[in-house]
Amino acid sequence: MQDKVKILMLGERSVGKSSLLNRYIDDKFDDAIHATLGVEYKQKIITNGDSQLTVQVWDTAGQERFRYIAPIYYRNAQGIPMVYSVVDRDSFNQVQTWMDYLKDQVDNQLISIILVANKCDLENRNVTTSEGQELAQLYSVKYYECSAKTGTQVKEMYQELVNQILSKRIQNNDQ
Ligand code: GDP
Repeated sequence: MQDKVKILMLGERSVGKSSLLNRYIDDKFDDAIHATLGVEYKQKIITNGDSQLTVQVWDTAGQERFRYIAPIYYRNAQGIPMVYSVVDRDSFNQVQTWMDYLKDQVDNQLISIILVANKCDLENRNVTTSEGQELAQLYSVKYYECSAKTGTQVKEMYQELVNQILSKRIQNNDQ
Protein backbone atom coordinates (compact mmCIF):
# COMPACT_ATOMS: atom_id res chain seq x y z
CA MET A 1 0.00 0.00 0.00
CA GLN A 2 1.21 3.47 -0.80
CA ASP A 3 2.10 5.65 2.12
CA LYS A 4 -0.41 8.46 2.68
CA VAL A 5 -0.71 11.63 4.72
CA LYS A 6 -3.98 13.38 5.42
CA ILE A 7 -4.10 17.16 5.70
CA LEU A 8 -7.17 19.21 6.65
CA MET A 9 -7.57 22.88 5.78
CA LEU A 10 -9.02 24.94 8.64
CA GLY A 11 -9.97 28.57 9.14
CA GLU A 12 -12.76 31.05 8.51
CA ARG A 13 -14.72 31.29 5.31
CA SER A 14 -13.09 33.04 2.33
CA VAL A 15 -9.57 33.12 3.72
CA GLY A 16 -8.40 31.05 0.75
CA LYS A 17 -8.43 27.45 1.99
CA SER A 18 -9.70 25.99 -1.30
CA SER A 19 -7.40 28.29 -3.26
CA LEU A 20 -4.33 27.09 -1.34
CA LEU A 21 -5.39 23.48 -1.89
CA ASN A 22 -5.89 24.06 -5.62
CA ARG A 23 -2.60 25.91 -5.94
CA TYR A 24 -0.78 23.04 -4.25
CA ILE A 25 -2.47 20.11 -5.99
CA ASP A 26 -3.17 21.54 -9.48
CA ASP A 27 -0.95 24.64 -9.48
CA LYS A 28 -3.97 26.73 -10.45
CA PHE A 29 -5.68 29.83 -9.10
CA ASP A 30 -9.26 30.88 -9.78
CA ASP A 31 -10.09 34.52 -9.07
CA ALA A 32 -13.84 34.02 -9.26
CA ILE A 33 -15.66 34.15 -5.96
CA HIS A 34 -17.47 30.89 -5.53
CA ALA A 35 -18.50 28.86 -2.55
CA THR A 36 -16.41 25.78 -2.04
CA LEU A 37 -17.88 23.05 -4.18
CA GLY A 38 -18.71 19.80 -2.51
CA VAL A 39 -15.25 18.35 -3.05
CA GLU A 40 -14.09 16.54 0.06
CA TYR A 41 -10.46 16.25 -0.86
CA LYS A 42 -7.86 16.29 -3.60
CA GLN A 43 -4.66 14.38 -3.59
CA LYS A 44 -1.37 14.05 -5.37
CA ILE A 45 1.64 11.80 -5.23
CA ILE A 46 4.97 13.30 -4.31
CA THR A 47 8.41 11.78 -4.24
CA ASN A 48 9.86 11.68 -0.81
CA GLY A 49 13.44 10.51 -0.83
CA ASP A 50 13.36 7.05 -2.43
CA SER A 51 9.67 6.47 -1.88
CA GLN A 52 6.37 7.88 -3.06
CA LEU A 53 3.86 9.51 -0.81
CA THR A 54 0.20 10.34 -1.40
CA VAL A 55 -0.66 13.74 0.03
CA GLN A 56 -4.40 14.00 0.55
CA VAL A 57 -5.70 17.51 1.29
CA TRP A 58 -9.23 17.84 2.67
CA ASP A 59 -11.30 20.97 2.30
CA THR A 60 -14.01 21.88 4.78
CA ALA A 61 -16.53 22.27 1.95
CA GLY A 62 -18.27 25.29 3.44
CA GLN A 63 -18.97 23.68 6.81
CA GLU A 64 -16.64 26.16 8.50
CA ARG A 65 -19.28 28.86 8.39
CA PHE A 66 -21.03 26.93 11.20
CA ARG A 67 -17.69 26.38 12.99
CA TYR A 68 -18.52 22.72 12.95
CA ILE A 69 -16.61 20.20 10.90
CA ALA A 70 -18.01 16.69 10.46
CA PRO A 71 -15.86 14.08 12.24
CA ILE A 72 -14.92 12.30 9.02
CA TYR A 73 -12.93 15.39 8.02
CA TYR A 74 -10.61 15.48 10.99
CA ARG A 75 -10.57 11.73 11.65
CA ASN A 76 -6.99 10.57 11.04
CA ALA A 77 -5.94 14.05 9.97
CA GLN A 78 -2.24 14.40 10.62
CA GLY A 79 -1.61 17.96 9.52
CA ILE A 80 -3.55 21.21 9.58
CA PRO A 81 -2.81 24.50 7.83
CA MET A 82 -4.63 26.93 10.17
CA VAL A 83 -5.43 29.69 7.69
CA TYR A 84 -6.38 33.34 8.08
CA SER A 85 -6.31 36.21 5.62
CA VAL A 86 -4.01 39.19 6.18
CA VAL A 87 -6.77 41.51 4.92
CA ASP A 88 -9.42 40.08 7.24
CA ARG A 89 -8.71 40.82 10.88
CA ASP A 90 -11.71 38.87 12.06
CA SER A 91 -10.32 35.72 10.45
CA PHE A 92 -7.11 36.31 12.44
CA ASN A 93 -9.07 36.84 15.67
CA GLN A 94 -10.96 33.61 15.05
CA VAL A 95 -7.80 31.49 14.93
CA GLN A 96 -8.08 31.15 18.69
CA THR A 97 -11.63 29.77 18.35
CA TRP A 98 -10.43 27.20 15.84
CA MET A 99 -7.49 26.18 17.98
CA ASP A 100 -9.78 25.70 20.98
CA TYR A 101 -12.18 23.71 18.84
CA LEU A 102 -9.35 21.52 17.63
CA LYS A 103 -8.22 20.67 21.14
CA ASP A 104 -11.53 18.88 21.67
CA GLN A 105 -11.42 17.01 18.37
CA VAL A 106 -7.90 15.74 17.93
CA ASP A 107 -4.89 14.62 19.91
CA ASN A 108 -2.53 17.60 19.78
CA GLN A 109 0.43 15.31 20.30
CA LEU A 110 -0.29 13.50 17.05
CA ILE A 111 -1.18 16.40 14.82
CA SER A 112 1.06 18.97 13.13
CA ILE A 113 -0.24 22.50 12.72
CA ILE A 114 1.10 25.45 10.73
CA LEU A 115 -0.27 28.99 11.01
CA VAL A 116 -0.84 30.34 7.51
CA ALA A 117 -1.27 34.04 6.74
CA ASN A 118 -2.79 33.95 3.25
CA LYS A 119 -3.37 36.67 0.61
CA CYS A 120 0.00 38.27 1.33
CA ASP A 121 0.01 39.58 -2.29
CA LEU A 122 -2.59 42.20 -1.29
CA GLU A 123 -1.48 45.73 -0.36
CA ASN A 124 -4.31 46.58 1.99
CA ARG A 125 -3.37 44.17 4.73
CA ASN A 126 -4.49 44.79 8.26
CA VAL A 127 -2.76 42.01 10.13
CA THR A 128 0.99 42.52 10.39
CA THR A 129 3.73 39.93 10.05
CA SER A 130 4.79 40.33 13.67
CA GLU A 131 1.23 39.76 14.91
CA GLY A 132 1.18 36.51 12.95
CA GLN A 133 4.57 35.47 14.27
CA GLU A 134 3.54 36.19 17.85
CA LEU A 135 0.41 34.10 17.52
CA ALA A 136 2.41 31.23 16.04
CA GLN A 137 4.83 31.45 18.96
CA LEU A 138 1.95 31.32 21.40
CA TYR A 139 0.87 27.98 19.93
CA SER A 140 4.44 26.77 19.30
CA VAL A 141 3.75 26.29 15.60
CA LYS A 142 5.52 27.49 12.47
CA TYR A 143 4.31 30.58 10.62
CA TYR A 144 4.11 30.93 6.83
CA GLU A 145 3.00 33.92 4.77
CA CYS A 146 1.47 32.61 1.57
CA SER A 147 -0.40 33.70 -1.49
CA ALA A 148 -2.55 31.17 -3.30
CA LYS A 149 -2.79 33.76 -6.07
CA THR A 150 0.92 34.14 -6.82
CA GLY A 151 1.95 30.79 -5.35
CA THR A 152 4.29 32.41 -2.81
CA GLN A 153 5.39 29.88 -0.17
CA VAL A 154 2.49 27.51 -0.89
CA LYS A 155 4.55 24.46 -1.88
CA GLU A 156 7.01 25.23 0.91
CA MET A 157 4.27 25.40 3.53
CA TYR A 158 2.76 22.03 2.52
CA GLN A 159 6.20 20.46 2.29
CA GLU A 160 7.04 21.65 5.81
CA LEU A 161 3.78 20.16 7.04
CA VAL A 162 4.52 16.83 5.32
CA ASN A 163 8.01 16.82 6.86
CA GLN A 164 6.58 17.47 10.32
CA ILE A 165 4.00 14.72 9.87
CA LEU A 166 6.64 12.21 8.80
CA SER A 167 9.04 13.05 11.60
CA LYS A 168 6.25 12.86 14.18
CA ARG A 169 5.41 9.43 12.80
CA ILE A 170 8.97 8.24 13.30
CA GLN A 171 9.03 9.63 16.86
CA ASN A 172 5.76 7.91 17.76
CA ASN A 173 6.89 4.60 16.28
CA ASP A 174 10.08 4.82 18.30
CA GLN A 175 8.23 5.14 21.57
P1 GDP B 1 -12.21 29.51 1.37
O1 GDP B 1 -13.66 29.84 1.62
O2 GDP B 1 -11.39 29.69 2.61
O3 GDP B 1 -12.01 28.15 0.76
O4 GDP B 1 -11.65 30.61 0.37
P2 GDP B 1 -11.51 30.57 -1.24
O5 GDP B 1 -10.36 29.72 -1.63
O6 GDP B 1 -12.84 30.21 -1.83
O7 GDP B 1 -11.12 32.08 -1.55
C1 GDP B 1 -11.99 33.15 -1.23
C2 GDP B 1 -11.72 34.31 -2.17
O8 GDP B 1 -10.41 34.83 -1.94
C3 GDP B 1 -11.75 33.93 -3.66
O9 GDP B 1 -12.30 35.00 -4.38
C4 GDP B 1 -10.29 33.74 -4.01
O10 GDP B 1 -10.05 33.99 -5.38
C5 GDP B 1 -9.62 34.79 -3.12
N1 GDP B 1 -8.24 34.40 -2.74
C6 GDP B 1 -7.85 33.22 -2.21
N2 GDP B 1 -6.54 33.21 -1.97
C7 GDP B 1 -6.06 34.42 -2.37
C8 GDP B 1 -4.75 35.03 -2.38
O11 GDP B 1 -3.73 34.45 -1.98
N3 GDP B 1 -4.68 36.30 -2.86
C9 GDP B 1 -5.77 36.99 -3.31
N4 GDP B 1 -5.57 38.24 -3.76
N5 GDP B 1 -7.00 36.44 -3.32
C10 GDP B 1 -7.16 35.19 -2.85
